[in-house]
Amino acid sequence: MIELLPETVQYLQNRVSLVTGASRGIGRATALALAAAGSKVVVNYANSSTAAEEVVQEITAVGGEAIALRANVSQPGEVDNLISETLQKFGRIDVVINNAGITKDTLLLRMKPQDWQAVIDLNLTGVFLVTKAVSKPMLKQRSGRIINIASVTGQMGNPGQANYSAAKAGVIGFTKTVAKEMASRGVTVNAVAPGFIATDMTKDLESSEILKFIPLNRYGKPEEVAGTIRFLAADPAAAYITGQVFNVDGGMVMA
Ligand code: NAP
Repeated sequence: MIELLPETVQYLQNRVSLVTGASRGIGRATALALAAAGSKVVVNYANSSTAAEEVVQEITAVGGEAIALRANVSQPGEVDNLISETLQKFGRIDVVINNAGITKDTLLLRMKPQDWQAVIDLNLTGVFLVTKAVSKPMLKQRSGRIINIASVTGQMGNPGQANYSAAKAGVIGFTKTVAKEMASRGVTVNAVAPGFIATDMTKDLESSEILKFIPLNRYGKPEEVAGTIRFLAADPAAAYITGQVFNVDGGMVMA
């Protein structure tokens, strides 16, 4: 059983959180962390139904409330269904974590248009689709927290990740623009930019070379990203923060 973050104050009680890509990695840790703070959680996934159901079981086993909903968040129709199913089940959406992401790494010279498009479609267009779909209920209820998962590569670039870096830089620009558009209606929009976090996405990339670029000299854990995400969802602790990018990267980027 995965260790839940220690939690004494249920400051997200009666809140409903949607985490995209919550079957594994950072999304999974985030779903567990939000649930530990009292939130009801929608565990979105694309393929891993068993893993998603396990996340739901971990939450319900300790008295929380969660459901798993399949949706490919790069597809507009599936996103619309995901949001309407969430509203049908829980009646509202307070927190959205745009976390689902993929990589298709290769140097620019070898990058096929489909490698480019698949990463842009999920990592950037998916963020747009989900944010647009939840903006209506959030603006109507005059409250909401949108937290987009970017990456240090969107700030500093990374050889072999032209598609991914472009998408993540796009997420940062998108975050700031939507933060300005939604601020007057009580909805905050922030980004979290992880560095190198040990998940399925990075398991083939671990090397001593990478550690040279990480001042804290280790890879991050999904729970360490989830902690920052959960803080940004907290009310009133993070209520006055919008349009910001929070690096959780062991010191890789020091602007
Ligand atoms: P991961 O372990 O590979 O997990 C990816 C998650 O995204 C899975 O739950 C997967 O669901 C879901 N997903 C994939 N395609 C999807 C789709 N079309 N629709 C909905 N969900 C989909 O990745 P991770 O390392 O936790 O990364 C999570 C986020 O953090 C990503 O946005 C990634 O770019 C970002 N990030 C990660 C790192 C890192 O070092 N790991 C660094 C910077 C940023 P299934 O299981 O159903 O496939």
